[in-house]
Amino acid sequence: MSERFDVIVMGSGLGGLVSAVLLAKEGRHVCVLEKNQQFGGNLQNFSRNKTIFDTGVHYIGGLSQGQNLYRYFDYLGIMDELSLKQMNKDGFDVVTFDDDPMEYPYAQGYENFVTSLVEKFPEEEDGIRGFCNSMREMCSNFPLYDLRTGKPYFEDAEVFGKQVKEHINSFTTNEKLRAVLGGTNLLYAGDDTRTPFYVHALSVNSYIESAYRCVNGGSQISKILLKKLRELGSVAYKRSEVTDFIYTDGKLTGVKTIEGNTFEADIFISNIDPKRTIEIAGAEHFRKAYVNRISSIPDTCSAFSLYVVLKPDSFPYLNKNYYHFKDATRVWKAQEYTQESWPESYMVSMGVNKNTKVYGDTLTAMTYMRYEEVEPWEKTFNTVVRKNERGQTYEAFKAEKTEIFITELEKKFPTIRECIEAVYTSTPLSYRDYIGNDRGCMYGYEKDIQNPLRSFISPRTKIDNLFFTGQSLNMHGILGVTISAVITCSEILGGAYLLRKIQQATSEEIIG
Ligand SMILES: Cc1cc2nc3c(=O)[nH]c(=O)nc-3n(C[C@H](O)[C@H](O)[C@H](O)COP(=O)(O)OP(=O)(O)OC[C@H]3O[C@@H](n4cnc5c(N)ncnc54)[C@H](O)[C@@H]3O)c2cc1C
Repeated sequence: MSERFDVIVMGSGLGGLVSAVLLAKEGRHVCVLEKNQQFGGNLQNFSRNKTIFDTGVHYIGGLSQGQNLYRYFDYLGIMDELSLKQMNKDGFDVVTFDDDPMEYPYAQGYENFVTSLVEKFPEEEDGIRGFCNSMREMCSNFPLYDLRTGKPYFEDAEVFGKQVKEHINSFTTNEKLRAVLGGTNLLYAGDDTRTPFYVHALSVNSYIESAYRCVNGGSQISKILLKKLRELGSVAYKRSEVTDFIYTDGKLTGVKTIEGNTFEADIFISNIDPKRTIEIAGAEHFRKAYVNRISSIPDTCSAFSLYVVLKPDSFPYLNKNYYHFKDATRVWKAQEYTQESWPESYMVSMGVNKNTKVYGDTLTAMTYMRYEEVEPWEKTFNTVVRKNERGQTYEAFKAEKTEIFITELEKKFPTIRECIEAVYTSTPLSYRDYIGNDRGCMYGYEKDIQNPLRSFISPRTKIDNLFFTGQSLNMHGILGVTISAVITCSEILGGAYLLRKIQQATSEEIIG
């Protein structure tokens, strides 16, 4: 079988789906090819004990009317159909520490953010305001975050040159406040020596603007995008893993799936991890220096997650996330845990459905886990499409880690153990196999202040009709990846043209 399209998008993560809809809206006949049983990449759900869990989205920022992600989603035509619950306005995230009963809140709206933190740190108003001003100023350097025209990548070395920990610490000498202001760095797997401050600013700013949970899970975003895509006359196939590129007279003309089907097109967009894309495309089609550079970019750290089914009416629904640390002095070192100190930090988030009132029915807890921990089983592969056992020792490893993690959670949530009906886990191998990257990284490639250009990935490649999209370009997260897709499609449609259309459509909406 061979089918022909204008554009083929490989991978149905958010970046792939947003690119597909943007191009389909321009009349292109698009085909999305996804290797998994479910579309959505990190936006997949899975269900256990009749309960739905999100794999990779706990909350989303910038979704109040007129805000940046609202306007992008509105243009894509999905905003009206999303079912969302706004998180606590006075503390959507709280940062907490062992041996300190205080919950340090992140409130929605900058003024509210300042007021809530000043209550905990009355002497520190100037520092907190300085931090907020710096966050907003940094975000204003990235025009697309505000749907403004301008360069997609800011070229000022000063922007890339601010180190996250050093910069945050410059606003206060209060060690606890420093830990609180950097305390949500699991959002981007922050590293004190490498991560630039702009990554913190772009990740955290949109939540301070507004923070929402998806009712019944984040996979609704991919489902609604797919519905839009099909309404526009385009198609998407699951269980279609791209394994080969087809070149005719030196030009990329098609791709082949593992089942042996071929798909032809004029333009190809890869939402697959760039390192893996180069392998599939054949390294000989790229410059050696480029292949070496991309293959040497370190991945962000991976995670170990607990998905807890709660007994009915046992554990109150918490409309906020917890970022907890054993030790306030190790906020930037939690990835460097030892076997004895693991887990040094975690994030706890709860699921919400339309019946959620007083009690919650699911809780997800996530912490860092380095890939090397699961290397003994790295030759195994297990997804719904290619089901395999990883073996007894792996099950024992997961059980041991689960027990340690629950014991740690009990310190903060003393009743948690008796509320657990069932618990499921994912490890770096789960993320690796479902997403199709090298080492199960959470957020794509690391941004490194020492070497900003090394981790820069342009949507354009040496193959002139092959483009990249997704979290390894630009930024990760729902907002970051949506913007990546706009950047990718700008290369095809023209940046000024596309942005003007989005601006016009969404400003009419605001005025109307
Ligand atoms: C644990 C976790 C929690 C997170 N929480 C949040 C959050 O609360 N808020 C937030 O904004 N962001 C969050 N993120 C980040 C966010 O989910 C991701 O940045 C985003 O979804 C990545 O989108 P992407 O376009 O890069 O595609 P990906 O999600 O990386 O998907 C890539 C797709 O390509 C497919 N694919 C790979 N190889 C092939 C092939 N050969 N052929 C066909 N298809 C292929 C994969 O199956 C997958 O569907 C979280 C991420 C993780 C891991």
